[in-house]
Amino acid sequence: MKPFDLILSGGHVLDGSGAAPVQADVGIHGDTISAIGPLKNQSALCRIDARGDYVAPGFIDTHSHSDAYILIEPSAASKIHQGVTTEITGQCGASAAPLLGDYKMPSDWRSMTYPGAWSTLEEYKLLLAERRPAVNIATLTGHNTLRAGVMGYAPRPSTPDEQNAMTGLLRNCLRQGSRGLSTGLLYPPGKHAQLEEVVALTRVVAAADGVYATHMRSEGDQLIEALTETLEIARQSKVRLQISHLKTSGAANWPLLEQAVALILRARREGLRVMADRYPYTAACTDLDVLLPDWVFAEGPIQELQWLRDPAARTRIREETLAMRSENYWSSVHIGSTWHPDQLAFKGKPLTEVASFLGMHPVDAALLLIERDELKTGGIFFGMSEENMWRILALPFVMIGSDASLRAPAGPLSHDHPHPRAYGTFAKFLRASLDGQTVSLPEAVRKMTALPAQQFNLPRRGLIKEGFFADLTVFSAQATDTATYEKPHSPATGFKAVLVNGQITLKDDRLTGEAAGCFLS
Ligand SMILES: [Zn+2]
Repeated sequence: MKPFDLILSGGHVLDGSGAAPVQADVGIHGDTISAIGPLKNQSALCRIDARGDYVAPGFIDTHSHSDAYILIEPSAASKIHQGVTTEITGQCGASAAPLLGDYKMPSDWRSMTYPGAWSTLEEYKLLLAERRPAVNIATLTGHNTLRAGVMGYAPRPSTPDEQNAMTGLLRNCLRQGSRGLSTGLLYPPGKHAQLEEVVALTRVVAAADGVYATHMRSEGDQLIEALTETLEIARQSKVRLQISHLKTSGAANWPLLEQAVALILRARREGLRVMADRYPYTAACTDLDVLLPDWVFAEGPIQELQWLRDPAARTRIREETLAMRSENYWSSVHIGSTWHPDQLAFKGKPLTEVASFLGMHPVDAALLLIERDELKTGGIFFGMSEENMWRILALPFVMIGSDASLRAPAGPLSHDHPHPRAYGTFAKFLRASLDGQTVSLPEAVRKMTALPAQQFNLPRRGLIKEGFFADLTVFSAQATDTATYEKPHSPATGFKAVLVNGQITLKDDRLTGEAAGCFLS
């Protein structure tokens, strides 16, 4: 027999199925796992001693926003360092392709310079291949991307012609390798879509056996209504459903979890294919302007900036925001990324601290930062229950998704102030499992490997099995996240090796420079 290219020897193999670990060697030829068992007497070009460590399938980030940044930083450092070998992008209604019409990519993507241009998914794939990513990328197509491409940010339901244009574009994307559709029904312009529009689009996804992932219309006050709508969409179109970052936002809504879980379980008993994802943190992270009244951003970013710069409109925004938010609310908001030179020192700081430094009310501080930054200021919002978070993470149909784009501790993606989940999600969940704080280790690994591979239909991935791709993560019992809200650009540690398609991409917590990822169509 041809010598193995690589043998991982003597590790505790967690195969991804949820089965207990078994001590075994894993032999690899090329990009494929070719043998599991005692391989001590076999020859190999390279061996990694995994005794005392765990060997698992590479982790699958089910909810990634790396679409655009992977073109800038193909090393995917923040993800590889925590054992992630595949990212599912195109989430929350926003994908990098197709770039059509009036569509504006999310502000954090827009503020970067790219090594090439693209419009269609085909062109994006070519550019991605040229950049040689270290991780595998599979993508959904964003509903907001399609809708703004077809009808701009018009705050109204779509016409039948516009719906046809969207379904036509979606069919094209699916042919070009998209895995399905995502919506962000909280954001413009998707928030103006009615049930029929989403059903029409998800029927196209169902016909292609794709996935429909949704950032629902509400995750707080209207959670139950939003979930009911979501399940109705799945019922009508028979689409495979992924509820994105399942949560109960705002302390008053924490008791809604019971009812939400009951609704999901009932739908699953009916035969609907409903799954969800979640990150192991209690703060959300998005643009700071979400704390403003809906109408401010309902017509897209250009109009929003005009409102903020119009004194009369700004006064109205200020009054309505104050009326909407309790005095306690302001202490739950921290500033995330910011780009204007006069406010760089505010990154990661509590909004109330920034406000007292500026000598103004928090609402005025927020308005100032948002306007000066041309809407690019990020916000970190502490509004979730820790108890609910652990309950959600333990549900057998919930997998792990970071809800973050990749970053790197050096280079162009090291200057912002992300949520620590960008560097820590998978390592933090592993740590919790190793500490007995959540599900068992085999179950934790299943949630990060086989379960997502099945849901997103990624053939020959997610398990350690002969004939499967050699996407593998070797970690010690000391594996842990290190990123914090104060110091987020901090990679996970305790990872002995990460293999992507058979290539050693990380060794002893250091990137090797290998770049063997590919686009998974
Ligand atoms: Zn989202």
